[in-house]
Amino acid sequence: MTQTRTRLERGRGALGPALELVHTGRAPTRAVLTAELGVTRATAGAVAAELEALGLIRVDSRPGAAAGTQGRPSHRLTVAPDGPVVLAAQVHVDGFRAALVGLGGRIVATAPGCMTVPADPAAVLDAVVEAGAGLLRASGRRCLGAGLAVPSAVAEPEGTALNPLHVAWQAGAPVRELFRRSLARAGVPGPGDATAVPAGPPAADSAPGAPIGQTGNDVNLAALAEYRHGAGRGARQLLCVATGHRGVGGALVLDGRLHTGSSGLALEVGHLTVHEEGRACHCGGRGCLDVEADPLAFLTAAGREPGPEVSLLQQARDLLRDEYADPSVRAAAHLLIDRLGRGLAGLVNILNPDRIILGGLHRDLLDADPERLRAVVAERSLWGRSGGVPLLPCTLDYNSLVGAAELAWQPVLDDPLRALGA
Ligand SMILES: [Zn+2]
Repeated sequence: MTQTRTRLERGRGALGPALELVHTGRAPTRAVLTAELGVTRATAGAVAAELEALGLIRVDSRPGAAAGTQGRPSHRLTVAPDGPVVLAAQVHVDGFRAALVGLGGRIVATAPGCMTVPADPAAVLDAVVEAGAGLLRASGRRCLGAGLAVPSAVAEPEGTALNPLHVAWQAGAPVRELFRRSLARAGVPGPGDATAVPAGPPAADSAPGAPIGQTGNDVNLAALAEYRHGAGRGARQLLCVATGHRGVGGALVLDGRLHTGSSGLALEVGHLTVHEEGRACHCGGRGCLDVEADPLAFLTAAGREPGPEVSLLQQARDLLRDEYADPSVRAAAHLLIDRLGRGLAGLVNILNPDRIILGGLHRDLLDADPERLRAVVAERSLWGRSGGVPLLPCTLDYNSLVGAAELAWQPVLDDPLRALGA
C-alpha cells in the first residue's frame, strides 16, 4: 500500500469535518485546516485535494496566497464557485421565495412569489418548488438536496406544522411529506443522484439515496444560518429573536446545535406576555410579543393603515427608515423597543445566552435606537445589569432560506463521499 493511500484512508473520516470548516469560513487556509483537524500537513493536504476533486472546494496554491500560521504562505481554501447547489424554499404569510444556495451559504439565484397562502399547503409548496426547479434548469448546476422553511414550529420526527397561526393551514399539516411530493413531481434530484438538473418528472418511483426535502421553522433556520455564516459565529449560547412577516419567533443554538425541545415547540418566544392589557393573541393569551412587537403592531401604533401593495414587514421597515423624524413614528418605535426589550430581558434571565441576534423588524428597531433597547434589557434582566449581553443585528440576507439550505447540505457535510455517490 502506498504512503499516499494510507494518508487518504486516514483522512476519510476528516472529509466531512474539513468540508464544514471551509463551508463556515473557519478554515481559510490549508495551514488552519491542518491545525483545526489536528492532523499532519500531509493528511490535511490529501483531504483538501479530495474535496477539490469532488468539486466542492477550491485549493489555491498561487504564491502570495494568505499567510499560514507560521507566517509562511499557505494554500487558500474556498468553496468551489461553480460547485453544486441545494434548493431552498420558504413559505411566509405573503407568499414564498425559492433560492439556489451553494456551500458557504452563498445564494446563487433567487425568485420571489406573491400569493395568498391557501389553506391547502400543497398548492403553495408546488408553486415554490416549481420556482426553484426553474432556477435549477436555468443554472445548469448539480442539485444535492432541498430544504424548506415554514412559519410554524415543526414536529420531529413527523415533519408536521404544529402551529401555523399566521397562515390558514390546519395545525398538524404534513408539510415535509407534501414538500417531498412536490419535489418528486418537479423532478428535483437529490443526493446520490448523478443527474445534474431536473429534466422533468421522474420516469418511475425511483428514489435514489436518502429522501430529500428537510423542513424546519423559519426562525430556527435563520438562527442556524446566522450561527454558521453570520452574526452568530463564535457564540456558544446564541439566542435569536425575529419578526417574520407576521408574529415573532425565537431560536436557541447551543454549541452549534438548535435546541428544539422535546417535540419541536421550544423557544416559542412570541407568546411571552409583554403588555398585560394588550391585544388578544391567537394563542388564547393577551399582550403577547407576537401581537405587540410585530410589523402590524408597529404600523398600528404609528397610526398607519396597512396597505395591500407590499408585505407588512416591508411597509413597517419603510416607515421606520423613511419617517423616523415623524413624532408618531418615533413614539411607535419606542413603544415596540420597550416591549421587545421586556421580552428579551425575561429570556436573558431564563436562558443566560452569551449573544442575542435580532432579525426582521427587530433588527431595524435595534438600528433605530440601540441604546434604548440595550438599556431596557439591562434594566430588567439580572444578568444584563452585571455586564450586558451583546445585542447584534442579523447580517445575512434571506437567513431563513440560507438555513433551509443548511438542512439540505447536512448529509453532504456529514459524509461527502456518500452524499455525492462517489
Ligand atoms: Zn400569544
